[in-house]
Amino acid sequence: MAKKKEKDLSHGWVVAAEIPVTPKIAKVADDRGSFRAEADQRVTALEVYCKGCRRPYDEVVGTDCSEKIDNRHLIGGDQSTRAKRKIPTPPKNARPLPTGTVNRRGISAYVSGVSRPAR
Ligand SMILES: [Zn+2]
Repeated sequence: MAKKKEKDLSHGWVVAAEIPVTPKIAKVADDRGSFRAEADQRVTALEVYCKGCRRPYDEVVGTDCSEKIDNRHLIGGDQSTRAKRKIPTPPKNARPLPTGTVNRRGISAYVSGVSRPAR
């Protein structure tokens, strides 16, 4: 690849397609996960999207590919500034009730008390 001054931020467009096939081709496609289409075969485009950022063509055409800038949008944003999970506060009149202890180790944990109610 040629060295450029600026990083190429263009989208890598791909098309999700629907291609009618013969039973023979269907078997090949199912076995190998790929097959050869006929020359000049018209293909129905189900969806056009970017392989990098997985966003639809009509939403991001003309913009830089966010996957090439950084791919943090794929993990729900910047993890360092992401909000912590909120622990729900119990109602004011709630109080812990005294109960027996639950054995969470060994075979007895599976026999009663955890996966089944204690006997
Ligand atoms: Zn993209």
